[in-house]
Amino acid sequence: MKKIILLFLILTGVLIAGNPYVILVSFDGFRWDYVNRGVTPNIQKFIDYGVHALSLRPAFPSKTFPNHYSIITGLYPQNHGIISNRFGNLHSGEWFGMRTTKNNWWVGRAFWETAEYNGITTGTYFWPGSRLDDETRRPTYSKVYEHEKPYEERIDSLIKWLQFPKEKRPHFLSIYFDETDTKGHMYGPNSPEINLSIQRCDSLLSYMILGLEKIGLIDSVNIILTSDHGMTEISKERTINIEQMLDGLEYTATGGDPFMMIQPSEKDREKIKTRLEANQRHYKFYERENVPEYYYYSKNGLISDFVLIADLGWMLIHNDDLEKWDNYASVGTHGFDHNQLDMHGIFIAKGPAFKKGYKTGTVWNVDIYPLLCEIFGIPQPQNIDGKLERIGFILDFN
Ligand code: AMP
Ligand code: ZN
Ligand code: ZN
Repeated sequence: MKKIILLFLILTGVLIAGNPYVILVSFDGFRWDYVNRGVTPNIQKFIDYGVHALSLRPAFPSKTFPNHYSIITGLYPQNHGIISNRFGNLHSGEWFGMRTTKNNWWVGRAFWETAEYNGITTGTYFWPGSRLDDETRRPTYSKVYEHEKPYEERIDSLIKWLQFPKEKRPHFLSIYFDETDTKGHMYGPNSPEINLSIQRCDSLLSYMILGLEKIGLIDSVNIILTSDHGMTEISKERTINIEQMLDGLEYTATGGDPFMMIQPSEKDREKIKTRLEANQRHYKFYERENVPEYYYYSKNGLISDFVLIADLGWMLIHNDDLEKWDNYASVGTHGFDHNQLDMHGIFIAKGPAFKKGYKTGTVWNVDIYPLLCEIFGIPQPQNIDGKLERIGFILDFN
């Protein structure tokens, strides 16, 4: 009988993985090289005693919603359906925005769903997709997004969840901070202001560590520091007005800035194509089915027929954008080609599951999902884009 139980435990991964804790942290817009500015002593300890990847490659487009959902589903946006922060279903006339919780937009299975299915309780303090209308797709503990919620209070809640009795306590947790994204847009990635935000994120990590020390969990918890994308400098001088270029033609445009989707009317299709193709300076024009393979951005009916991707630091704009710009001068942005290093985020992890003082090259954010499955010893789904073999070697037991 003992042998059968042992075999069962090995097969289910319980013996291999124990009953681990993982906290997945997202510092929105925290660029890969922000850790080299000499203002992050606590993150540095993670680098020294944990795993540090050179950078974390986001998925295209390097925007907040597509990438948080790629991290948590292991899927590229063309497969998980959140192809931008805001986009439309031009057939039904419905629009997706950052407050949309209707289930059908969100394809794939978030890690918290997989974990709960495997008997692991989960908690999320803000993460795109964590408050879907279908409650069976939510973590056991989650919160409605409040942009102004003080950061320390978010951490306090996490620590409180970790003090719940064992049968109610979450083992997979995630938490989100907008700090470096908000300030990165306002002041740019090379400003003194962003250095203060980077420092603020470092202090938040210290605050979280103190909380974990107080409840005696600091040695048991694995903490993964991630970001959804980086940030690059932009300028009013580097803009291309697509609306002006297509003046007099009929189409629907979605998005803008680093990338734009254009759904042409049937009657103007060829004219629009000719103009967009002919004017390709500082941006690239693709028909959906010809978007180069490495973007993984063509196999989804919600992507418009034409896709425009700006060169790094350039902006694709509409007529009223310049006026808006005068009221709110944005100095930094993201959304460009995900292979541009400026668009890369961080991946730094420390805890019992990880190698110590280990450095590796760039890792891909879709691979975090299979990594989490491996840490928790739960089966790898077959149908995801993430691959354990590209990242699993950072684990101490692999
Ligand atoms: P962006 O820089 O446009 O890609 O998006 C960043 C913004 O996303 C942040 O400033 C937040 O206001 C917003 N955001 C992040 N997470 C959520 C969420 N779970 N629900 C609603 N908005 C969010
Ligand atoms: Zn973001
Ligand atoms: Zn942003």
